[in-house]
Amino acid sequence: MGAAILDGRMVASAVKDEVARNVADLGFQPGLATVLVGEDPASHSYVRGKRRDAAEVGIRSLHHELPGDVSTDALNRLLDGLNEDDEVDGILVQLPLPGDLDDEATVERIDPAKDVDGLHPFNLGRLVLGQEGSRPCTPSGIMRILDHYDIPIAGARVVVVGRSFLVGRPLALMLSEKGVDATVTVAHSRTRDLSEVTREADILVAATGSPGLITARHVKPGATVIDVGITRIEDGLVGDVDFAAVVEVAGAITPVPGGVGPMTRAMLLVNTVEAARARLSEVGNR
Ligand code: NDP
Repeated sequence: MGAAILDGRMVASAVKDEVARNVADLGFQPGLATVLVGEDPASHSYVRGKRRDAAEVGIRSLHHELPGDVSTDALNRLLDGLNEDDEVDGILVQLPLPGDLDDEATVERIDPAKDVDGLHPFNLGRLVLGQEGSRPCTPSGIMRILDHYDIPIAGARVVVVGRSFLVGRPLALMLSEKGVDATVTVAHSRTRDLSEVTREADILVAATGSPGLITARHVKPGATVIDVGITRIEDGLVGDVDFAAVVEVAGAITPVPGGVGPMTRAMLLVNTVEAARARLSEVGNR
């Protein structure tokens, strides 16, 4: 019997409807500044998608494009201006940045209150402490899709393959938070006997960028499999999971495309509205 398909597009669409209602309730239009550096076609396409999503829910996007050889100083000046701009509630710098520009230093330049990607050390620190704050979009999207489909998390064994600050680490923190209560193992490229580790998982998350890494032998029958990986090949996008084989073993699985990707985009909108709401209560009506 095939696994149930966890439909990220459908859940993301429900999240977007909720965001649109929240925007209407705010009484003003939140502003999302998108910053795109260089010519990478994938980055251009991601930012186009994010701006389209923003428009759909009533968020104004203020777009800035810089050449790939822009200096760190010029990029910082732009960010400083956006930090100060009252029309801007959220700032998204599309990563990875080209050339010598430093992704982490750039994210750190963003006002944590406008860090809608949830990647500023201040917000990641709050996550470590279990405090409220902007949380990274992909892990938040995964939490949301698990919640939507009532996948039991408390007490579950979760294996997250991948330990990046963008996906694996924050997700492991969210899943092991008090009140969420999963027992989490983080695996990576130096993990010995990966399939032995992953077969323990009630919920297996693959976030490596290594296409087809997870095969049927990595999956416990009936497990939930979340495929975060996105690799562009000639025919389109593929995940980290050998979908055709794993769908026969798993209990539930996210497809690529149409799984985690749309959820990531939707959570950016959620974070933008949250940032606008928090700023409103801090600086008063605009
Ligand atoms: P990184 O390259 O930063 O991290 C990849 C992680 O996977 C590392 O921890 C690495 O281990 C581990 N890894 C790589 N190969 C293997 C392997 N063969 N076995 C076990 N572990 C392995 O990538 P990101 O976390 O930024 O992204 C991961 C994937 O998710 C990419 O395909 C990316 O495109 C996709 N992605 C998708 C999103 C979505 O919305 N669907 C959003 C963000 C990312 P080590 O640390 O030892 O090197």
